[in-house]
Amino acid sequence: MGFKYEGFSLTADAAKVKGAAAQLLGVTKKAKDKLSNVPNGAAETALYTRWFGAIDGTRLKTVQRIVSDIDDAAHSTRRTITFVDARQTTSIGRNEPGTRAYVHCGGTGWTGHVGSGIRVLITQRFFAPDTNPDKVTERTVCVMLHELSHKLGGTIDHVYGRDEALELARNHPAKAHKCAENYGFFALDLLKLP
Ligand SMILES: [Zn+2]
Repeated sequence: MGFKYEGFSLTADAAKVKGAAAQLLGVTKKAKDKLSNVPNGAAETALYTRWFGAIDGTRLKTVQRIVSDIDDAAHSTRRTITFVDARQTTSIGRNEPGTRAYVHCGGTGWTGHVGSGIRVLITQRFFAPDTNPDKVTERTVCVMLHELSHKLGGTIDHVYGRDEALELARNHPAKAHKCAENYGFFALDLLKLP
């Protein structure tokens, strides 16, 4: 993937974003591999069911396709993800509390999306002090998968939050498999899988 960085004036901030980008490559590959093992692998299937609900052939295929598209994008040398320090840009107006990253959407999926590639705006909350480095990693992976599922999978924000995403998977799998938050938390749990 061509990762680019815009506007990060502090070395520590740039390093944090670059660390998240590097982590992302491993996670998307792992997500794609593990999902290809559903419904045969017990651990993979349990993880899928937890975040996307009861298995249904069509929904499973959709989740596999979205994650595969994300992985392809992450590893393509022809695609660029540009991380932009949105704190430096007042005109963006996306720095309200709770907003960690924002993707400029120019359509859903790869088809028809050409030109400048993906721009991920990194806002203040991404840099919030965190005593546990593992938590920083987890948070960035969760945020990135959430945002990339919007961009490449056309997912929407049915709910926000871990408990809410779990509830959605349990009771509304048809919504869960198109909800960005479910992709984020799925990726986070994936980190714990061997
Ligand atoms: Zn979202």
